[in-house]
Amino acid sequence: MVFPFSAIIGQDEMIDALIIAAIEPRLSGVLIFGDRGTGKSTAVRALASLLPDMPAVVGCAYGCDPGDTAAFCAECRARQAAGTLQAGRAAVPVVDLPLGATEDRVVGALNLERALADGVKLFEPGLLARAHRGFLYIDEVNLLEDHIVDLLLDVSASGENVVEREGLSLRHPARFVLVGSGNPEEGELRPQLLDRFGLCVEVKTPTAIDTRIAIVRRRDEYDHDPAGFCQSWQAADAALREKILAAKDYLPSLVVSDDAMKLAARLCMALGTDGLRGELTLMRAARALAAFEHADEVTATHLARMAPSALRHRLRRDPLDESLAGVRVERAVAEIFA
Ligand SMILES: [Zn+2]
Repeated sequence: MVFPFSAIIGQDEMIDALIIAAIEPRLSGVLIFGDRGTGKSTAVRALASLLPDMPAVVGCAYGCDPGDTAAFCAECRARQAAGTLQAGRAAVPVVDLPLGATEDRVVGALNLERALADGVKLFEPGLLARAHRGFLYIDEVNLLEDHIVDLLLDVSASGENVVEREGLSLRHPARFVLVGSGNPEEGELRPQLLDRFGLCVEVKTPTAIDTRIAIVRRRDEYDHDPAGFCQSWQAADAALREKILAAKDYLPSLVVSDDAMKLAARLCMALGTDGLRGELTLMRAARALAAFEHADEVTATHLARMAPSALRHRLRRDPLDESLAGVRVERAVAEIFA
């Protein structure tokens, strides 16, 4: 039984970022920096279990969407041609990518048992296949080996896992929301990887006494009676689920005005972010927030609220300004949006 998402308190920035990433999957992920024991993994699992089951082909290892025939894996194309395709439903997957996972485990590999016993070349899908249409969670992402990072960068950019090895040659869809957590003090993240995460949030152990007490009490209540606790949060979770689904529906009709785009551009120029990905991400995140609030348009307030998480990991080091990246973003927002 998963801790209810709406029962999480004290980590508003992380909660907002996860909701925004669920509404707008093109943001391609959330990076969570911060202390251990601040509920990062709990929050990701809670969000996934809050989301409704998704339509999925029965028996497909990749969880293909029956409604999206263009993105079918080879097996589902064959099922469709043979008229044996069966539509069902599956829970949104959350897949853990553990440190030290081998490339075989991540991308999938030849099923050796079948190869040796029957001489059949059968593909054993890996973690990327299981994460398709869900979340791929990497704890301590900054400690991940370089070749796995490269692989993830390729797959998350293309949405496809291409396997060309051991006499196997196949490709399957692999689109997922990447959620990484880590502690920047324990190892640098490569800029290419940082850039891949749409949003980046910082979580801290709460310092307000009331918040600490509330968190501890809730955790204690949950551990004492998980079923009863979840029951008492069911209505709140259901309401949040409806709000997220409504935002997904509403999102495409929200237009971002030139004025809002100008503000985003001026902010990114003032901060000296590289390229245009900062603006694109900020625009998408602010639009998703506006959709979540069912606002008529994207306003400066939406941009200001999403700016720290959309931009803090895209700033260049400034030797004259050692303040935290999030603080630099907030300062620039205050100047430009004044
Ligand atoms: Zn399939």
